[in-house]
Amino acid sequence: MIKVLVDPERLSRFDFGPAHPFKVHRLALTFELLQAYGLIDRDDVRVIGLREATEPEALGFHSQGYLEALRLASSGMWVPNQFSHGLGTTDNPVFPDVYEWAMLVAGGSIDAAAALLDRDVDRSFNLTGGLHHAMPNRASGFCHVNDGVLAIQRLRAAGKRVTYVDIDAHHGDGVQHAFYEDQDVLTISIHQTGYTIFPGTGFEEEIGQAAGRGYAINLPLLPGAGDEAYDEAFESVILPAMELFRPDVLVTQLGTDAVLGDLLANLRLSLRGFERAVERFRAVGAPWLALGGGGYDVPNVVRAWALTWGTMLGETLPDEIPSAWMTAAAARGVTASRLRGSADVPPTPDRVMEALRKSAESIREMVFPILEDAGERG
Ligand SMILES: [Zn+2]
Repeated sequence: MIKVLVDPERLSRFDFGPAHPFKVHRLALTFELLQAYGLIDRDDVRVIGLREATEPEALGFHSQGYLEALRLASSGMWVPNQFSHGLGTTDNPVFPDVYEWAMLVAGGSIDAAAALLDRDVDRSFNLTGGLHHAMPNRASGFCHVNDGVLAIQRLRAAGKRVTYVDIDAHHGDGVQHAFYEDQDVLTISIHQTGYTIFPGTGFEEEIGQAAGRGYAINLPLLPGAGDEAYDEAFESVILPAMELFRPDVLVTQLGTDAVLGDLLANLRLSLRGFERAVERFRAVGAPWLALGGGGYDVPNVVRAWALTWGTMLGETLPDEIPSAWMTAAAARGVTASRLRGSADVPPTPDRVMEALRKSAESIREMVFPILEDAGERG
């Protein structure tokens, strides 16, 4: 089976600005590391370039007024209502051609989703995507256009039922919002609790509404969570929920800001723990679209997504990072020696596990009966 990888090259010219934590060069560095590991020039890999999503595609989720404001701002015009659209803020600066940036990312995710409709493709990865905070009428949390929503809409248009799992340290609020009343898309987000971090949502009581009641799952974690919490969350909630829902396609948002050492979040997941999560997604066995997401420690981002692509190809990568890549990366101020980092995994505090078990219990009580009924219908 063919695996599709989106080449981030067309995004290299964009820049959120020197003070912004979102570093665009992490994309090229990741692609180069995949090359160095020999994970691109292979018979089972098809590389596709980015193309801009069309306006009709983006209108599947975003408002006309917002897209117009984004386009105007992008060309350097003054936009009278830009703040009401979340534009020009510290989080969502207006940089040159920001419209093209956002539409290229979105087009990449839509095409990576569409690739899975080919019978010979079973996995695809747009590491530039996963910009899960963008809302219909506003930019939010470094995200201008919600590529994940548009990709899922592409799959829905082909009649596919989708499970979306978001392991970014921040709640996948934009994607949840898009499908909150939809029983054909199960959204699952595991993240640092909204009491302590942006966007302040994603509590276990948020389970969807109307026809979508029971088709949204949120697992908020206390700061300092660590691997043990993730392992338990997967085993007690995420995997069983997916099994009950039985999706046609799995979409994962693989933000790496939950990894130990991130600058914006504090979930202390090890790189090996991240890899284990990705291995669990592979084991589901459904056609699988992987998207990138947040991640503000560049060496962690690069390593976590190299582990992802290796896993998607069914390869276990050696811990030793190719030296040619290390030299090139060091010239750009990025150093990483071992792929999985240190083997020392910080212990999970008891209070984290206690809170997690409470959340998991309430989710299993509220949501699982609904998913069980749906499974019987399906
Ligand atoms: Zn994040």
